[in-house]
Amino acid sequence: MALQNTESESRKLLGRLRETMADASAEGQMRLDRIVQLIASSMQTEVCSIYLFRDDETLELCATEGLNPEAVHQTRMRIGEGLVGRVAKLARAINTANAPQTRGFRFMPETGEEIYSSFLGVPVQRLGDVLGVLVVQSKEAREFTEDEVYGLDVVAMVLAEMTELGAFVGEGDALAALHTQPEMFRGVVGQEGAAVGQVWLHEPRVVVTNPVADDPAVEADRLARALERLRVSVDDLLKGASEDGDQRDVFEAYRMFANSRSWVRRMEEDIARGLSAEAAVEKEQSAARARLSQSSDAYLRERLHDLDDLSNRLLRILTGQGRDTGAEMPENPILIARNIGPGELLEYGRTLKGIVLEQGSVGSHAAIVARAWAIPLVLQSEGIIAEALNGDQIMVDGEQGIVHLRPDDTVASAFRDKLAMQAEAQERYAGLRDLPAQDKSGKTLHLHMNAGLMADLPSLDSSGAEGVGLFRTELQFLIRNQVPRRGELANLYGRVLDAANGKKVVFRTLDIGSDKVLPYMKPQDEPNPALGWRAIRVGLDKVGVMRMQLQALLRAADGRPLSIMFPFIAQFEEFKQARQHLLDEVEREGKLGHALPSDLEIGAMLETPSLGFAPRQFYEMADFISIGGNDLKQFFFAADRENERVRRRYDTLNVSYLTFIEQIVNRCADTGTRLSFCGEDAGRPVEAVCFAAMGLRTLSMRPASIGPVKSLLRRVDLDEAREVIDKARGSGDQSVRPAVMEWLRSLPR
Ligand code: PEP
Ligand code: MG
Repeated sequence: MALQNTESESRKLLGRLRETMADASAEGQMRLDRIVQLIASSMQTEVCSIYLFRDDETLELCATEGLNPEAVHQTRMRIGEGLVGRVAKLARAINTANAPQTRGFRFMPETGEEIYSSFLGVPVQRLGDVLGVLVVQSKEAREFTEDEVYGLDVVAMVLAEMTELGAFVGEGDALAALHTQPEMFRGVVGQEGAAVGQVWLHEPRVVVTNPVADDPAVEADRLARALERLRVSVDDLLKGASEDGDQRDVFEAYRMFANSRSWVRRMEEDIARGLSAEAAVEKEQSAARARLSQSSDAYLRERLHDLDDLSNRLLRILTGQGRDTGAEMPENPILIARNIGPGELLEYGRTLKGIVLEQGSVGSHAAIVARAWAIPLVLQSEGIIAEALNGDQIMVDGEQGIVHLRPDDTVASAFRDKLAMQAEAQERYAGLRDLPAQDKSGKTLHLHMNAGLMADLPSLDSSGAEGVGLFRTELQFLIRNQVPRRGELANLYGRVLDAANGKKVVFRTLDIGSDKVLPYMKPQDEPNPALGWRAIRVGLDKVGVMRMQLQALLRAADGRPLSIMFPFIAQFEEFKQARQHLLDEVEREGKLGHALPSDLEIGAMLETPSLGFAPRQFYEMADFISIGGNDLKQFFFAADRENERVRRRYDTLNVSYLTFIEQIVNRCADTGTRLSFCGEDAGRPVEAVCFAAMGLRTLSMRPASIGPVKSLLRRVDLDEAREVIDKARGSGDQSVRPAVMEWLRSLPR
């Protein structure tokens, strides 16, 4: 049989497919029927069939030329089942001259296919997602040529794009279009609360609206020009990268791919077959993703990831889509991203109603920002990016870590009930605002709030916080493109103090490094950034910035009381040095004739276990100490606060950890040093009660936690809590949580 699979034949076929797609009078099924006829006739095979996924597991015969038409929408198979199921599972073509003898063959009498000997099936896939399988079959027992396989692959690519665009969905269609069905995703709770809104993708999907092009020369030229721009941007990335290290390796790999003849040649061949430049990029990207999912070689996987990222960049150049497209955010945006840094999140500001991340961790600073703003956050919500489209209706259940995408009416109404309950609880907490944070026996706690932006200050009043126990000054540095100037900072800190209206504000000096990377700072290629050059270590090595910040704080105080603490102090000497810098600045300001603070308190954050064992003199010198539990806990248990897999293994109410905290409480009591706790755990009611039972009297938390913490505190007796804890500690329990929870449940409501 003369099979005409020349480039021009392929282009002709693609052109016809495009006409079918453009024909507005044709419904989904009609289009599919035409397509199988076109392919069968172009490839001169007796059979052409399209199978599409009906749900995650099941493929359905959606159109056929040659098989029994009655089997359409009746024949189904599970992924992996039969040759068609295997093509979908392996995301790879199967090409055989003798289908019945080929591994995996399954006889399906309803299709009448046993008489066809040759079988060629290729996956219909888009960016690594297999959407279905395209099959041609013929009676003559022969293997299809490489050229034919390639030709069918190109057609499958166009089919994938058409499927994505909803070209096959018609009225009463049994098969749902992608991105139209309700979907539920389970993730990890990052911040409680419920939110309803519309999807806003941090990196919107690139939509290819023109998979088929008429003029290969024009497309080849577009590709060449886009590649040139890509190469220039990769060279720029390389120029900006530090001399050695991982980042440079990655960019070197980018450059290698961007100049790779074989990659470019494959895309040029795709174009010669009739694909548009962007469809060609996507086709090769899909192939790379399929290889990625099959490969266990770590090095190869890394490189395929690089190629994937590079393809995305190329697609963005070609389509002008992606970030900064000028699209308008919806009214109630719910941000969806793979991951996000604190700086990027701050750029969005408080407009976001909810956040859903595919990765991310509770301990990250982006999560802390979301928590500070009380924006419901769900982490580790796998697969949501592929499903969500900008503008989709979405409901985020931050209590359970569940996300409903395009929810149906039942889910939506249950969700609205939840929102109403949440509002009711808020009202209850608001009613506690002016009541003291006291336990039943009258022991009083001091509840402060954490802040980092001017916009947080109004919460001081609404939450009933006594003051700001932690003002994270780095947020101001993260949202800018360059180091802020002293005058600017002094002005801002001054406004913070004004807004606090006499309530105390504890300013923490710049705490950068680890996951807080300043956009204008040369990235440090450190193997373990959390254990690396960060916080006070940067401050003491680059004293210019720290001193500038201290001057700004002194000027902002302008004669008012001032509290400053230094982050991440691991040994006495660091505190002494940092404190001395501050005292020098005070002296300098005095000499310059500026007003000095009426009262200056200098404290340290206890975030490393070592400081718990520092000399007594440290405790005597520090005016106050604040336990940074987020960092302390990660170092105490040697468990990365950003790594969900290890982070949750260790309970905050672990006996060793509580005992360590008790030891710090005792040391501070000995020297009369004021002590507070300002990590995220302070805002969790059960944890807060346990800390208070261990003797902590000042807790600083996000404003939204003050109500819930106060509410629980007012129901308990801290001495009783202590008894429960001590009993559990004495019994060899790993964590006191079960005993404490049982006790709490026994309390009257
Ligand atoms: C902490 O580590 O607990 C803390 C309050 O600091 P940050 O979360 O900003 O590192
Ligand atoms: Mg910290």
